[in-house]
Amino acid sequence: MTTALCPGSFDPPTLGHVDIIERCATAFDHVVVGVIENPSKKPLFSAEERMQMLEKVFEETPSVVVVTFQGLLVDFAKSRDVDVIVKGLRGVADFEYEQQMAQMNHRLSGIDTMFMATNPGYGYLSSSLVKEVAKLGGEVAAMLPANVYEALKERI
Ligand code: ADP
Repeated sequence: MTTALCPGSFDPPTLGHVDIIERCATAFDHVVVGVIENPSKKPLFSAEERMQMLEKVFEETPSVVVVTFQGLLVDFAKSRDVDVIVKGLRGVADFEYEQQMAQMNHRLSGIDTMFMATNPGYGYLSSSLVKEVAKLGGEVAAMLPANVYEALKERI
């Protein structure tokens, strides 16, 4: 049985995140989606809200569980018996940062990180850009799961 961890802020989850998690659910027996709490970054949605949005999206995929966490990613990964961390890569900017993180996390814990290339249809999506566009009145319905879109409209 292999368990993958998909960590992120998910503030809010986009279809880019959902695509990576769905593909992980196909490749691995279990997927833990780790929602980083990070209150100091002043997220638009609380960790609990982000977790509930993702739980709704994956309510029919029993191999996916969504959990919030704080502190070191590798400590959380060890506490959940994770075999591998999976990160989505949109392009070289993601790669440069993620490679350093992957090497640090491996040094700290021995846990490997695998990279999954973004679905080209979602390569331009980031939570921060979606929020910015939505705040300025742009239409973001096609970039988010339906429940997330409704929550974002209400929050903004
Ligand atoms: P962001 O604020 O950059 O959207 P997160 O911290 O929530 O992101 O990202 C969690 C993980 O999801 C990271 O590995 C990130 O590279 C990946 N990710 C984010 N958006 C996409 C996307 N559109 N396609 C593929 N992977 C993505």
